[in-house]
Amino acid sequence: MLNPSPEHIIKIDRLSKQFDGIEVLRDINLTIKKGEVVSILGSSGSGKSTLLRCMNWLEQPERGVIYLGEDRIDKNPLTNKPLKHKELAKLRERIGMVFQSFNLWPHLTVLQNVMESLVHVKKMAKAEARTIAEKQLEKVGMSHKLNVYPNMLSGGQKQRVAIARSLAMEPEVILFDEPTSALDPELVEEVLTVMQTLSKEGYTMVVVTHEMEFARMVSDQVVFLEKGILIEKSDPEKFFTNPDSPRVRQFLNISE
Ligand code: ADP
Ligand code: MG
Repeated sequence: MLNPSPEHIIKIDRLSKQFDGIEVLRDINLTIKKGEVVSILGSSGSGKSTLLRCMNWLEQPERGVIYLGEDRIDKNPLTNKPLKHKELAKLRERIGMVFQSFNLWPHLTVLQNVMESLVHVKKMAKAEARTIAEKQLEKVGMSHKLNVYPNMLSGGQKQRVAIARSLAMEPEVILFDEPTSALDPELVEEVLTVMQTLSKEGYTMVVVTHEMEFARMVSDQVVFLEKGILIEKSDPEKFFTNPDSPRVRQFLNISE
């Protein structure tokens, strides 16, 4: 008997991407279900960021189908044409992104950074945007810094503000690209703790990370990219104790 298809937030079918004629992603298939945390691991240059950026069409792959829920982000299936700017912008509102480098506006306070997209993209009244921003900043433990400018914050605090800014838009999924890689070691934990809380609250998250402990404890799926090919996709228990791929065993230092 056929199972009904599981509810997915993102579904990627046979995605391939080249830069200057060199294939950096090949034939990627990946389904991310509602409420799942998916960790993407792999060495530098393996295509992790590019895969994440394809998910919200910041990079355009040559081949493949990308669904956000029922909607296609790679093209309009009725006209067979790329999405119009407005259609794409609408879809992107449903996808949050958190970067290694925070990307906060330096000339805006913490509160203003979180309110910015609510007011200018969602066209929300300022008072309403402020209420939402304050709530999200409280969630990430930043209520005491509302009127401070980013340059007065530690890296961990900046990243928590960036996460609050993303949450405020109520995205269906948040893409994290090495959210703790730019942080001093003692600041990594506070960001991972916030992300773990989000996972418990049921947020759908795709996380490119080198934090193995986080990937193991928090993920529902772990995927491993090697030279643009997805060579392992397992639940964390299998991934970290008994992966199929010799390359992953080597990466994790598991003896044969
Ligand atoms: P990762 O995030 O796993 O370190 P990336 O997705 O950034 O890997 O890069 C994958 C490959 O694509 C690398 O070889 C990188 O040099 C190349 N690449 C990434 N972005 C571009 C670009 N804009 N133009 C040309 N090559 C790129
Ligand atoms: Mg990267």
